[in-house]
Amino acid sequence: MKLVFLGPPGAGKGTQAERICEVMGLAHISTGDMLRQEIEKESEIGLLAANLINRGELVPDEVVIKLVRERLLCDDAKKGVVFDGFPRTLEQAKLLTEEIGTDFVLNIDVPLEKLLHRIVTRRTCVDCNIIYSTEELKSENCPRCGKKLSIRADDNPDAFKERYQVYLERTLPIIDYYKARGELINIDGDRPKDVIAADIADKLEKLGGLKYDKG
Ligand code: AMP
Repeated sequence: MKLVFLGPPGAGKGTQAERICEVMGLAHISTGDMLRQEIEKESEIGLLAANLINRGELVPDEVVIKLVRERLLCDDAKKGVVFDGFPRTLEQAKLLTEEIGTDFVLNIDVPLEKLLHRIVTRRTCVDCNIIYSTEELKSENCPRCGKKLSIRADDNPDAFKERYQVYLERTLPIIDYYKARGELINIDGDRPKDVIAADIADKLEKLGGLKYDKG
C-alpha cells in the first residue's frame, strides 16, 4: 500500500497520515520530519536544509529523493507507506511513479484564510511527534506522553507566506498530474480532524477495499 497526502502547509497532512499509519501499521514517511531530524543531528544534509526550511523554501530534489530511497529500505516500509510532504515537485512525483508507484493520492483542501491560523497555533510533541493545536491543549505538555511540545521554526507568518507561494508554484502542478492519472481523491480539510479521518477511511474503503477501524 502506497498512499500520498498532498495539500498546502497547515492542511493537516501530518495529522491524518499519522492516524492512518497507526491504525493500519504503515510507515509514516514525512520528508519534513526526516529533514528536521537531519538538522538536529547537524549532519551535512541538516546544515544544508536548515536555512532553506527556515526561509520556507524547498530542499533540492536530489537531497530529498536520497533520504526517501534510504527510508524505503527500512523494514517497517515493507507493509506499506504513507507519504506526507512528498512529493512536492513534479520531478519528485514522476520519480515516485517510476520507482514504486502510488495506490491513492489524497489531496486535503483547506481555504487559505484558515491555514495561517492553523500554522501559528500548531504544537508538536518532541517525543511522540503528535501534532496539536493550542486550541485543544489544556497544558504545555503532550496530552499523550507528557513530554514537551515544540513550535516549528518555520511556523511563523513570514515563513508561511513563502511556503504557501512555493506550494502554489511548485506543488500545485502535481495535483493536475495525479488527476490526469486518475489517482486523485479530494478531501475537504475544513472540518474537524475526526470527521476528516472518517471521510478518508470511507473513501479508501469504497475505492480499494481498504478496511480499518475508524475509531
Ligand atoms: P513539512 O514538514 O512537510 O511542512 O516540510 C517542512 C519543510 O521541509 C518544507 O517547507 C521544505 O523546506 C522541506 N521539505 C519537506 N519535504 C520536502 C520535499 N519533498 N521536497 C523539498 N523540500 C521539502
